[in-house]
Amino acid sequence: INKFIVLVKCIECSLEDNKKCTNGFENKYIEEANTKYSIIFKQIEEARKTFTTCNNTKCSCYASVIENDLKIFGDGIDKAMMEKVASKGTKYQIIDHHLYRDKNCMFPSRCSGIEHFIIKLLPKLPNMELIINTRDWPQIHKEYGIFGPVFSFSKTGDYHDIMYPTWSFWEGGPAISLYPRGIGRWDQHREEIGKVANETAWENKILKAFFRGSRTSQERDALIILSRENPELVDAKYTKNQAWKSDADTLYASPAEEVTFTEHCKYKYLFNFRGVAASFRFKHILLCKSVVFHVGHEWLEFFYSALKPWIHYVPVDSNSRKEDLKFLIEFMKKHDDVAKEIAQDGFKIIWNNLKMTDIVCYWRKLLLKYAKLLKYKVKKDPNLIRIS
Ligand code: UDP
Repeated sequence: INKFIVLVKCIECSLEDNKKCTNGFENKYIEEANTKYSIIFKQIEEARKTFTTCNNTKCSCYASVIENDLKIFGDGIDKAMMEKVASKGTKYQIIDHHLYRDKNCMFPSRCSGIEHFIIKLLPKLPNMELIINTRDWPQIHKEYGIFGPVFSFSKTGDYHDIMYPTWSFWEGGPAISLYPRGIGRWDQHREEIGKVANETAWENKILKAFFRGSRTSQERDALIILSRENPELVDAKYTKNQAWKSDADTLYASPAEEVTFTEHCKYKYLFNFRGVAASFRFKHILLCKSVVFHVGHEWLEFFYSALKPWIHYVPVDSNSRKEDLKFLIEFMKKHDDVAKEIAQDGFKIIWNNLKMTDIVCYWRKLLLKYAKLLKYKVKKDPNLIRIS
């Protein structure tokens, strides 16, 4: 941070009087302050000025997300509202500290991943009922369709869904050949990725931008094409997913082998993109102590609120062309100390504030606040099966 204050002063003084900047660090960037990179320096300066570290006692870093998501239900939730959205997800009830659920769950392992957290909390939870959407896509659009409380793992600002910590923190998809039962077990991934991150010196990381994943969104194409044209700068390839039919689905190339999260940490620059909704890889690659380029700001998970652009990751516009991506990667290559600081801060925010205890804490806070909004006495639905 100190370096940045100097850097910012350096930009300012370079605009006024170059001679005022005397020390080595300042001089290093002075020539560039008015160059093509000045916009980036300005954005970093703004981010550093306004950033304050959040205090995550009782998962407070994410408190505003619960507040924002529940605000629209401030007048309370009645039975009619609940019935309207019943088809939008799986119905759960908590009655006398037991958990009940619709007999059928669309994705059983996703339901298990959700239930793992709720079951832990049952002794402290009051009676309630809720609709949990296990699809990737949110359900309650602000402009059209029906309105009511539906829990989804990811959404954009266009939706009224209430965000919950995704099933895959514990169990469930997406499943790839390396993680055939679904990515799951965030507690184990944290340990493994964190260990490799600590063992891989910044100086030894490969000086390339890296991405492996399937073509769940065409926003990824620009990086793949850049990689084909500039393999010395970028190594980005499409892998197969379950929907793969032909090479057209991997942008007219054979599908690449999948790569483990820990292998990602070998590279200095890592890319995250939205998929069908937010992609699970964001939190994993932030733990690598590499710089994460996060493309698009629209798709969210609950913990994104604590991540700040230019502090924890490099923000990239979702409409970026390959030239824009090249420009940003080259900026980071040229300003290695800036890159290293973002990489370290990205690691710290996830390592310190996205532990399993934080996930449980978020679920607890969310369910307690939600239950207070129910305006009716919840009666046991005989169609549900007991889970706990
Ligand atoms: N993934 C991985 N290695 C790969 C390809 C994918 O670890 O080589 C992970 C990726 O990080 C993500 C999940 O598998 O969490 C699914 O990735 P994909 O790109 O297929 O879809 P997304 O969920 O990102 O839209």
